[in-house]
Amino acid sequence: MNSNRNSHSPPPRTIVVTGGSKGIGRAICKAFARPGTTVYFNFLSPETTGLETARDISAAGGIPVPMCVDVASEAEVTHFFKKISDETGRVDVLVNNAGITKDSLLLRMKESDWDDVIRVNLKGTFNCTKAVARLMLKQRYGRIINISSVVGVTGNSGQANYAASKAGIIGLTKSAARELASRGVTVNAIAPGFIKTDMTAEIFEKMESDILSQIPLARVGTPEDVAGVAVFLASESADYITGQVIHVNGGMYI
Ligand code: NDP
Repeated sequence: MNSNRNSHSPPPRTIVVTGGSKGIGRAICKAFARPGTTVYFNFLSPETTGLETARDISAAGGIPVPMCVDVASEAEVTHFFKKISDETGRVDVLVNNAGITKDSLLLRMKESDWDDVIRVNLKGTFNCTKAVARLMLKQRYGRIINISSVVGVTGNSGQANYAASKAGIIGLTKSAARELASRGVTVNAIAPGFIKTDMTAEIFEKMESDILSQIPLARVGTPEDVAGVAVFLASESADYITGQVIHVNGGMYI
């Protein structure tokens, strides 16, 4: 009986989360961590250590591997995935979560603010998806989850660069889903609404009541609200879901 059960136990899993040092990425790393799972996660700033996330992963019995990798750099991303492939031979799940904002009204937006946001959010997602696709196609299995945003669907004044990058992620998700489906690789996006993290702390402080008035469920989201959906999309229960955008926004956009 026992040996039968062992033969059906799932193989060790390799999870990769970009921008895993804090906020939504940290919650995603924690949610995927369990014994037999290795969680590779990256971040940008050289001062970031990823220690808190690594502690969360270890506490859940997983193996954390933090790395400083700029997702906007094709060379760094290639090196990152080569290391993962050499060490584990596979990637089961990639969550493209790293993202930045550089907000201003369109007429005041600097070219560099446009370029930076598109480079990190959209090109970064492309770089990592491309790097992992070869491996997943060979495995004939993979789950790619891209973090978009409600504003990628609705637009938002003051966020033309960010909204364009997040809308671009939706187009990328749908195209990659079509290209990779025949080999058992699904690609989906999550579009969070307003989630309380460092990225939104300042605006939340200034506009709390205004923000809450736009959310039918009358609270802002938590990183865990998003992480739970990422785990679902990587689970067997979501095997027949690909090319979709799952909104996690408390009803902010219906
Ligand atoms: P945070 O600012 O809290 O965290 C961003 C993470 O991305 C950090 O780990 C940061 O690393 C990393 N990062 C930034 N640039 C790069 C880069 N070039 N290469 C690698 N890593 C990078 O953001 P959130 O947790 O709030 O957001 C996570 C994702 O969710 C983003 O894509 C965001 O656009 C999206 N989102 C967030 C919403 C919200 O309300 N918070 C709503 C909708 C979508 P470091 O620690 O080094 O800075």
